[in-house]
Amino acid sequence: MTRIASHRGGTLEFGDSTPMGFAATARMALEEVEFDVHPTRDGSIIVHHDATLDRTTDTIGAISEKSTDEVRSAVINFGHNSHPILLEELCEIFDDSDVVFRCEFKPGADGVPYANFVPRVMALLEQQDMLPTANFSSFLIDYLDEIAAHTTRPRLWLVSPAVLTQLGTKGVLAMARSRSIPEIGVHIDKATPELMAATLDAGLDFGCWAAHTVPQIQKALQLGVKVFTSDRPSLAIAIRNQMREGKGS
Ligand code: FE
Repeated sequence: MTRIASHRGGTLEFGDSTPMGFAATARMALEEVEFDVHPTRDGSIIVHHDATLDRTTDTIGAISEKSTDEVRSAVINFGHNSHPILLEELCEIFDDSDVVFRCEFKPGADGVPYANFVPRVMALLEQQDMLPTANFSSFLIDYLDEIAAHTTRPRLWLVSPAVLTQLGTKGVLAMARSRSIPEIGVHIDKATPELMAATLDAGLDFGCWAAHTVPQIQKALQLGVKVFTSDRPSLAIAIRNQMREGKGS
């Protein structure tokens, strides 16, 4: 069965990385919740997509340069007057849920990975008892190496369209194997049966990201990818149910 990951708690249904979106996701009939983490200046871990607050909230500036209170007082756009949450709070929301974490490591606003951040996230997830079921992802190979140094939990490489074009299928798969990366994820619009077959032949798992429209979600399900992320988790569930019942195209 193809797994569904609610992307940032279902951005197009609930706003970007909102407490409401995460709480709704925790009760959904899907398998994973995708989210991104960033450090504050004073050592907290914030669940938010961008490294800055500029695009998604009423506040300007990099999360890593702000205090926890400053970040938590930002109001998320289209987020029903809610504020960015701490990783601890996300753990609490999913405490009783069967939906597992898919935690993405993103670089800072300067494009560089945060130093010594991965072990801090791992320690917090372990302390909250969420590590045993967590999965990890990143576009950055250096982060994937660092993740592997701190946990044996699954990790996947998010391959951007530019990287896929530049390296080609063979180059991407060779790179993944050379770094012992067990799974790749590509943009749904770049996914093809040939790419998926080549990936599986190379002994790697294959998934997709950014399946937000009906045709994109249907494509992911018809390909039978391992997992896909969607900003419309409720829609993805409905289409998967429909296809299971044989009513889908
Ligand atoms: Fe992400």
